Amino acid sequence: MKLLAQLPALLAGSLSTSVAASFISDADLQRPLGTSSQAALGTTADHVSAPHYRESLLALHKSLVEIPSVTYAENEVGSFLMNYLTDLGLHAQLQFLPPSASSAAGPDDKPRFNVLAWPGKSRTPNPRVLVSSHIDTVPPFIPYGTSHLGKDGEVNGDTVISGRGSVDAKAAVAAQITALLDLMQSKEEEDFDPAEVMLVFVVDEENKGEGMRYFSDSLAHLDPAPAFTAGIFGEPTEGKLACGHKGFLGCTVRATGHAGHSGYPWLGKSATEVLMRGLVRVLDTDLGSTERLGNTTVNVGRIDGGVALNVIPEKAEARMAVRIAIGPQETGAKVVEARIRDVLKSVDAEEGTWDMECSNGYGAIDCNCEVDGFEKITVNYGTDVANLKGNHTRYLYGPGTIFVAHGPDEALKVKELEVAVEGYKKLILHALKN
Ligand SMILES: [Zn+2]
Repeated sequence: MKLLAQLPALLAGSLSTSVAASFISDADLQRPLGTSSQAALGTTADHVSAPHYRESLLALHKSLVEIPSVTYAENEVGSFLMNYLTDLGLHAQLQFLPPSASSAAGPDDKPRFNVLAWPGKSRTPNPRVLVSSHIDTVPPFIPYGTSHLGKDGEVNGDTVISGRGSVDAKAAVAAQITALLDLMQSKEEEDFDPAEVMLVFVVDEENKGEGMRYFSDSLAHLDPAPAFTAGIFGEPTEGKLACGHKGFLGCTVRATGHAGHSGYPWLGKSATEVLMRGLVRVLDTDLGSTERLGNTTVNVGRIDGGVALNVIPEKAEARMAVRIAIGPQETGAKVVEARIRDVLKSVDAEEGTWDMECSNGYGAIDCNCEVDGFEKITVNYGTDVANLKGNHTRYLYGPGTIFVAHGPDEALKVKELEVAVEGYKKLILHALKN
């Protein structure tokens, strides 16, 4: 079913431009300026090489980045997306986090919700491919900005767009929506049935993944429940297809000693000393490594202990994030957790010295990276891939690099966004055929 007729005037201008969408090479960017008739369209200097959706893609990306949506405060960007998708003729729906979620409401008690969308006037019963990313960002908010404009101030493929979420993951959100719309409008993809695709943009990915977890659990209550054969997840992978990512385990380690005067250390037992020796040994141990993902790594993100400099500390604790290189997803984290416990006990085996609590972690995640035309990558960060239950094929792909995401210089180039639109189109078509 083609839905071209339902698409509003918003995209009509760009649709009439018959420039074939393509990957942008540097050679394309060297092409001469357009003719006077092209200039009259008010388009950019590299109009000839710009894909026809550049304007709408950049406008959507800008709107998303301009709306602050630090985790818990996704309400406004979710509302924007709901209206945007509805205006495009898609059927969109809010999925509110249940009161049982650890934080169903954000600041000012505004409810938190995922945005679900189906191409069509109503919910389609049997979508096979789920296209998803997240709408929350890490703090702090950084305003939208552009640099590296052309000499007349025009946007081109090398123009850099900055701001919080410009990469992670509003770039993916904008590229995924643009890709789906472009497939719906394309006359070349006659076999493409939009009713087989569903969009989900979730909250809380940067926290506990409650948005995707809730969406995943909610599928069982839909009638009929969708049976996805593939999930396409948008995260910064430098425009390469991820073969998988490390698993995750968060742990709090507590050491207990005996307090006493610091001048007589042999009369007490220093919890901070025990903790430090234990942590160093954990850091120095191979907790599990693979050729594909490298080493399991440990970040001791926080340490607390003791009460005063001249008192032997009775208590000390550390919180650590463990990035797990071994699988499988279901048990890899348990294996690493057991190894950490053994290492700590090897430092001090006395009963009552150690106490360790770990979150429900997961082992290394496998994704399908065997698709023609894509370079491959593995990544060290966690994603919502783990939070969608089912035996669907998983694809992890998106524009921009994780090396700037979460930092003060988060940014990407226009051409990275545009390459990702083409990438998502390919992945959606590939997933539907397999
Ligand atoms: Zn992300």
